[in-house]
Amino acid sequence: MSEIATMPDAPATAPDPDETVAALLAERQSLVRANRMLAARVDALMNVHHAAILILDPETGDILDANDAAVRRYARSRTELLTRNIREINTLSQAEIAKRVRLAVSARRHHFEFGHRLADGTVQEVDVYSGPILYDGKVALISFIHDATRRKTLERKLKTIASTDSLTGACNRRKFLSILHQEFRRARQARTPLAFAMLDLDHFKLINDTHGHAVGDAVLKGFAAACRRRMRECDCFGRLGGEEFGILMPATALGDAGRALERLIDATRRHAASAVGATVSIGLTAISEGDDTENPLLRRADAALYLAKANGRDRIEILP
Ligand code: GH3
Ligand code: MG
Ligand code: MG
Repeated sequence: MSEIATMPDAPATAPDPDETVAALLAERQSLVRANRMLAARVDALMNVHHAAILILDPETGDILDANDAAVRRYARSRTELLTRNIREINTLSQAEIAKRVRLAVSARRHHFEFGHRLADGTVQEVDVYSGPILYDGKVALISFIHDATRRKTLERKLKTIASTDSLTGACNRRKFLSILHQEFRRARQARTPLAFAMLDLDHFKLINDTHGHAVGDAVLKGFAAACRRRMRECDCFGRLGGEEFGILMPATALGDAGRALERLIDATRRHAASAVGATVSIGLTAISEGDDTENPLLRRADAALYLAKANGRDRIEILP
C-alpha cells in the first residue's frame, strides 16, 4: 500500500484563527533567528578569510561592504572605506575598471591582476578573484584580494634569469632574437633606421688552449662588459653563442654604427695587447627596403662577419 492511501482525511472543522496567528508568529520568529544566524555566519566567514573582501556596486563602483582585512588594507576605518569607490583604489583608468567589472559580473572572467592603492598611499600588486552575488536583492560584485608582491617579484626574477646569459649578463640568444624581431617590425613600420652587428672573438679557441677555460670565461665577461659600457640605453646586446655576440642599434644609421664599432674594435685590440684578451671581428648591416623579416638582416650580418674573418680578422665588414 502506498503512503498516500494511509493518510487520514482532512479535519472537517475550520482552523482556530488564534492558533493560526500564533503559528505564523512563531514561524516568523524562527525565520528572523535563522536570518540573524545566517548573517552572523556570513560575517564570520568574511572575517575569518585572510584575503581582503570587497563587495561593490557594479554600476557605480561604490564599495557596499568589506571585511576587516579590507578595512585594514584600504582605509583608516570601516566608515571611511564604505564612502569610497573602487576607482580610488584600483590604479587602472575608469574605463578599464568598468570593462573588468563587466567581465567579472557576467562571470566571463574571475581572476584579475591589479595595482591597488593602500591606506598609506603605496601601490601593491594584487591578485583579485571576483564574481557576482546577490546583495540586498541586487546583483553585486564580490572580490577576494590577495597580496601578489612576492609572486610577481619571483616571476620577474625568473623572467630575467630565463632571458639572461649567466656568464656575461647579456641577453641570451632567445631573448636577443625576440628583441630583434620586435625592433625589426617597429623600424619597418616607422621607417626608421636599424643597424645590426654580429661580433665574434678571434682565435678564441687558442686562448682557451693556452690559458685555460677559466681565463677564457674571464675574457668573455670582460669583453661583454666593455661592449655594454659603450652602448646607448636603447641598444641591445646579446650573446648569440660561445664567443659570438650581437648588437642591435635602433634609430642608428649604418655610418654611425660603423664608427662606434670601429672604436670598439680598437679598444678590444688595445686591451688584448696589454692583458689576456682576444681581438674581435664584426659583420655589420642595416635594415633595407626589401627586408620582409629580420632573417635577411641576420644572413647579411653573418656574411659580413665571414668576410671580416676571411679578410684577416680584427676588423669590421659592412654589407648594407
Ligand atoms: P675564429 O677567429 O675563426 O672565430 O676562431 P675561434 O677559435 O674563435 O673559433 P672556434 O669556433 O674554432 O672556437 C670557439 C671557441 O670558443 C671554442 C669553444 O670551446 C670556446 N667557447 C665557447 N663557449 C665558451 C665559454 O663559455 N667559455 C669558454 N672559456 N670558451 C668557450
Ligand atoms: Mg671566434
Ligand atoms: Mg665563433
